[in-house]
Amino acid sequence: MTSPDNAQTPKQYLPPQALMRSAHVAGRAAYDALAAEAEAGYEGYWARLAREFVEWKTPFEKVLNTDHAPMYKWFEDGTLNVSYNCLDRQVAAGRGDKAAIIFEADDGKVTHTTYAQLLAQTCRMANALKALGVGKGDRVAIYMSMSVEAVAAMQACARLGAVHSVVFGGFSAHSLRDRIADTGAVAVITADEQVRGGKTLPLKALVDEALALGGCEAVRNVVVYRRTGGAIAWQSHDRWMHELTQAQAEVCEPEWVSAEHPLFLLYTSGSTGKPKGVQHSSGGYLVQAAVTAKWTFDLHDDDVFWCTADIGWVTGHSYIAYGPLALGATQVVFEGVPTYPDAARFWKMIERHKVTVFYTAPTAIRSLIKAAEGHAAVHPRNFDLSSLRILGSVGEPINPAAWEWYHAHVGGGRCPIVDTWWQTETGGHMITPLPGATALVPGSCTLPFPGIMAAIVDETGGDLPNGQSGILVIKKPWPGMIRTIWGDDARYQSSYYPPELRGYYLAGDGAARDPETGYFTIGGRIDDVLNVSGHRMGTMEIESALVACTDLVAEAAVVGRPDDTSGEAICAFVVLKRSRPTGEEAGKLAAELRNWIGKEIGPIAKPKDIRFADNLPKTRSGKIMRRLLRSVAKGEAITQDTSTLENPAILDQLSEAH
Ligand code: ATP
Ligand code: MG
Repeated sequence: MTSPDNAQTPKQYLPPQALMRSAHVAGRAAYDALAAEAEAGYEGYWARLAREFVEWKTPFEKVLNTDHAPMYKWFEDGTLNVSYNCLDRQVAAGRGDKAAIIFEADDGKVTHTTYAQLLAQTCRMANALKALGVGKGDRVAIYMSMSVEAVAAMQACARLGAVHSVVFGGFSAHSLRDRIADTGAVAVITADEQVRGGKTLPLKALVDEALALGGCEAVRNVVVYRRTGGAIAWQSHDRWMHELTQAQAEVCEPEWVSAEHPLFLLYTSGSTGKPKGVQHSSGGYLVQAAVTAKWTFDLHDDDVFWCTADIGWVTGHSYIAYGPLALGATQVVFEGVPTYPDAARFWKMIERHKVTVFYTAPTAIRSLIKAAEGHAAVHPRNFDLSSLRILGSVGEPINPAAWEWYHAHVGGGRCPIVDTWWQTETGGHMITPLPGATALVPGSCTLPFPGIMAAIVDETGGDLPNGQSGILVIKKPWPGMIRTIWGDDARYQSSYYPPELRGYYLAGDGAARDPETGYFTIGGRIDDVLNVSGHRMGTMEIESALVACTDLVAEAAVVGRPDDTSGEAICAFVVLKRSRPTGEEAGKLAAELRNWIGKEIGPIAKPKDIRFADNLPKTRSGKIMRRLLRSVAKGEAITQDTSTLENPAILDQLSEAH
């Protein structure tokens, strides 16, 4: 077994010299200056950025309204149109012929869409929706897989001031129905079918099923993009997208909306409970998406950016549909999955499109490590990844061992990794390195984005000194923040602004800051903190130590279960890089791992149970659902919301594998 790099004194990776000179935020002093500017004049700082990054129809005069906190308002007397900012503005700036989207289909077919073309397509779609009676403030559900049409559909809604609610194409008819019903959508935009990993999967049929379940009576039209031409049932409210749009004009006057007008609703991943319908604004959200896309990814005009997220998640909103377009960047949009036709798909695409900035999730990295180590032909070293200059990670904490592999084998040891901590509710990056400014420590998301007042506090909101684990909060409102939970202000206030926290935003994650650097490390969800014989431990620390057992462990999840002697006992679920062991072999490996943890962290952290599995229960966005594992560990039946669980069959295996 190999030990993690200097577990006690983590190694720092300085920004490359070239980036320290040429990045938008170049050097640590530049970061410090921005943070100081925000500290000295919080509203003035955000107002400056809002004027620099967004073109306003009516300039705002009021920056932040705190009168009805926590119902905050930003730039409320300003008006704008988000789609105008993403498309018309780029064409006017001479980017009409520049590729906005390089689309690669599941089968490898590539199409380029310029800014002028994307604008025309968006306008035709907006005109078509308008012809169906969709207007400002109406909700529109979008249930599509990754496509130029999906991005254009989001932009078309924004153009009309309609509020989109994108539902990930992997969700069941029930989950789709719940989301359509909750938002009161008047239209659904979908496709006949979707193609993923060489397989055709239904979309339209699930819309039919969802609407038949009832509760979606507000839906007047279903607009269908023809992706495969497969047979589908036809209802009286169905309309083909191509028939609706072909006769429409390529110009559509944008609807100028107030900065606070809702741009979209999006449900959280459901890692910790029933998903919440997060409502985002137009003005503040766009400011946050654009500024963070520019500084965190250091996007320049000649970059080729690729965010592998699906538009069904917030990452696909801020860093596909809005942020990069608001900057006039070129980006890759990918229809398929990382493992088809083989697990080298990402590396081949980086090589093919000369991707310069690549942004993906730890779950993808861990599965590609496992694939590359089992099968040399799909190892990234076989591909020319020299175009890459910056890598990113989002969605879960990235284990230091996975970070090191990503850095060495994908980034060739020369690309900074931006480990971006943020949430559906935050709209954009909150704690993240800036690639030309921040020295990196694997496993740490480092420092707050300039202007984000992140802190670690105790249960009563009191500041904790660096070095102590506590509750991660954001002390001041920020432009891209959630405005409310759709239709439920009370749930918004109690979930994110509990009275005992002095008006701070409660993120729901536990974290600690390094005593010397002040860097943040996310320890896991507050609900997941373990208490073993009075010692409080984050799940992340034990999981990372398990994953650091590099020749053996591919992935691990740790939860607690009640225990008579220690209060709580640690239960670890482990996926190996080899096939799942049973019987005596399982016992031997469990003992080996227990010793390893004892050595890496200390005897107190040794898991009482170690169970081997082929996989872990994950949300459809690829996050480990520890709340389900807690029930499995206790041996109790699962009665919780499992609507966002990707692989239900795994629960049976885990329950048996005792
Ligand atoms: P729900 O709120 O329904 O339980 P969720 O929190 O998984 O679902 P998201 O908004 O998609 O929904 O995810 C945000 C969460 O993901 C964060 O609160 C954090 O726990 C985790 N996360 C995201 N990025 C990082 C990161 N870079 N490092 C550590 N954790 C991260
Ligand atoms: Mg959450």
